[in-house]
Amino acid sequence: MDHFRYVNRELFCEEVPVRELAEKYGTPLYVYSQATLLHHLSEIQTAFASAKPVVCFSIKTNFNHHISKLMAQHGSGFDVTSGGELYRALAAGGTGDKIVFAGVGKTDEEMKYGLGNNVLLFNVESEQELHALGAVAQSMGKVAPVALRVNPDLPPKTHVKTDTSVKGVKFGLDIETILDVAQGVVGHPGLSIVGLHMHLGSPILSNEPYKAGGEKGLKLIAELRKQGHPIKFLNMGGGFGIHYRKQEALPAKAFADVILPIVKEANCQLVLEPGRFIVGNAGILLGRVIFTKESGGKHYIIQDAAMNDLIRPTLYDSFHRIWPTHPAADLPAPPEDYEAEIPQTFKQNVVGPVCESGDFLAKDRNLPKVQRGDLLAVFSAGAYGMAMSSNYNSRLRAAEVLVTGGKHRLIRRRETYQDLLAPELDCK
Ligand SMILES: *Cc1c(COP(=O)(O)O)cnc(C)c1O
Repeated sequence: MDHFRYVNRELFCEEVPVRELAEKYGTPLYVYSQATLLHHLSEIQTAFASAKPVVCFSIKTNFNHHISKLMAQHGSGFDVTSGGELYRALAAGGTGDKIVFAGVGKTDEEMKYGLGNNVLLFNVESEQELHALGAVAQSMGKVAPVALRVNPDLPPKTHVKTDTSVKGVKFGLDIETILDVAQGVVGHPGLSIVGLHMHLGSPILSNEPYKAGGEKGLKLIAELRKQGHPIKFLNMGGGFGIHYRKQEALPAKAFADVILPIVKEANCQLVLEPGRFIVGNAGILLGRVIFTKESGGKHYIIQDAAMNDLIRPTLYDSFHRIWPTHPAADLPAPPEDYEAEIPQTFKQNVVGPVCESGDFLAKDRNLPKVQRGDLLAVFSAGAYGMAMSSNYNSRLRAAEVLVTGGKHRLIRRRETYQDLLAPELDCK
């Protein structure tokens, strides 16, 4: 579900024609629909309501301050993976009791920062980290609340670069050794092992891995309790898939159907860390066509959104739907299914101006003929879009706009040439 709709061959975000936004704020431009964001947060809150979950928005997917503020205002906590993300979560109104601190490489400084703000849980991913956290906590006269992150060793379920629960990845404690690690800290004065965490990978389009991971988790929780650890939290992570191609994602309820019985049996407080599910379908990236050209029998659309704005196609070979914001009158409606043949289209590559042959947003894609100055919308770009953007090629990071109903406002201004040099000019 999202609030991007074509009405009379013109793309709208909620009640605002996106052309107006491109004209007012320039391109490349990230456009977010507030109704879509809040719909997805509430879909999760509703689907899991019977367990009264602590929902921690994964701030790494989209760290914009104004989006974080909306999340906090609507009852969400935060899943943070760095000191910087903790800073952002707190700045947005997040409080420690609804913040979980993840990441394989927390520094002592970051641990102190988390402990100082009384985060709900540290998701701990290695034996060294566990002992380092215990020492830091002791030095502060505190006891660190810990959820051990297990790698449940499940079959591959998504792209190799984003699958975090197969054997051999850097994430989590091996399921074979986690109990030994836990045994080693029974009675540790700086640590309280109160939870089990898993984050299986992303995006996941089936609820089966949550069932399989959860069942393995149940056995571990029983063993951890036998060791004397008072396990109170089961954190099932994030990873819920979204619609990138057509309507391929599951509703939150499908994940709740398998997770809720497990949490009940575990007699635990449920924690969730959804990111993509909340913000992914709530954002599009608008780019303006600069040139078209033909090279070596290939057709190129060169527009002003590039890999530095949206790196997912380059990094993961990800698929994003792309379509003109103002399709010509004789064109078919934007396709629900790109695998099907689409009349009046031909195979084109959508690329940006960056000096890399890996700079593309779509390859060999059936798209209509476009002209210089046309606007293209790249859909489902709200998660891991702006968050992974860079200044590569000294390109200015895009502006971001939030739409609600018929209103819109800038939530991050476009960078300037001065912004590019500022951190260097601070060094005389
Ligand atoms: C990235 C991440 C998430 C969020 O994943 P989504 O697929 O965006 O829901 C949740 N938990 C952890 C530990 C993560 O690293």
